[in-house]
Amino acid sequence: MSTTETPDTNHFKVIVMGSGPAGLTAALYAARANLQPLVLEGIQPGGQLTITTDVENFPGFPDGILGPELMDRMRTQAKRFGAQVKFEAVSAVDLQTRPLEIRTDEDRYLADALIIATGASAKQIGLESEMELMGYGVSACATCDGFFFKGQEIVVVGGGDSALEEAIFLTKFASKVTVIHRRDELRASQIMQDRARANDKIHWLWNSQVVEILGSRQDKVHGVKVKNTGTGEESDYPCEGVFVAIGHTPNTELFRDVLDRNEVGYILVQEPTTRTNIEGVFACGDATDPIYRQAISAAGSGCKAAIDAERWLETAAE
Ligand code: NAP
Repeated sequence: MSTTETPDTNHFKVIVMGSGPAGLTAALYAARANLQPLVLEGIQPGGQLTITTDVENFPGFPDGILGPELMDRMRTQAKRFGAQVKFEAVSAVDLQTRPLEIRTDEDRYLADALIIATGASAKQIGLESEMELMGYGVSACATCDGFFFKGQEIVVVGGGDSALEEAIFLTKFASKVTVIHRRDELRASQIMQDRARANDKIHWLWNSQVVEILGSRQDKVHGVKVKNTGTGEESDYPCEGVFVAIGHTPNTELFRDVLDRNEVGYILVQEPTTRTNIEGVFACGDATDPIYRQAISAAGSGCKAAIDAERWLETAAE
């Protein structure tokens, strides 16, 4: 394989799928290694941080930074060193052929090495009424939709950091925010728990699972039906908005039956490297990480993926 000639303008030494902290850090490192990577941004340019507010735990920003701004800066930095960034989402891949083939709705690309940084997406409870009323009182993004609930009573489903972060943020708009959690113990970090518990607008409904969202597209949401996880008893809880914040699923369906994944879809890599079971294909960020899922750990693994790809290309060219 030649990695020095790139006669086809759609043939890249490195293609990066995804544009969150993992993808853009991989692009930055690949660009600085003179590999002129192409970043296919996917359907959510900048990834999940573009739907959060303050990022307070990314080192180097002692006063915090807004998620979208952090991602803009990462994109600018990668482009400064020659990364090309396209707002296209990959629809199919052929990882058995050489060079690797990557298709989007718009185009077809070839790559000597591929870095997968497709991240993860917010999970849904899985209720028909949740699907039906999404955008009509049900939301998965407080930053995007909180403003619409000024002075209203809303609920947040979940007991992790995401749920509490959303709940705290929503108190800026709502008159009352009730966190509905299926257990009586939170999964969230202590600092988030302390902040949420100290907020007078936040109320708690423990041992409760939302089994239906009450309302219609015309009249919007007017409550949720909750089932007590201990007694099985069902009751209605009034609210005008429902925010679902119950974790994430990795965006790896494209690689089903192609790459080794764990039972819930996270891509398996050959730790401590980012190598997958296919030569020349590397994976990083939340698509591989069910444990840490932080912007900084994603960025770190993106750096590793670019270095792994660079070294692999050197060896493959020998
Ligand atoms: P998570 O930690 O996996 O928490 C998901 C929560 O949703 C859990 O409380 C879980 O209940 C509940 N849940 C899951 N499926 C459910 C269902 N079908 N119905 C009802 N409840 C359900 O996810 P996360 O909160 O999105 O956090 C993910 C990672 O990102 C964590 O490492 C977190 O620390 C990090 N994060 C950090 C920040 C921050 O530092 N500011 C903000 C957001 C996220 P159980 O507890 O019963 O399993």
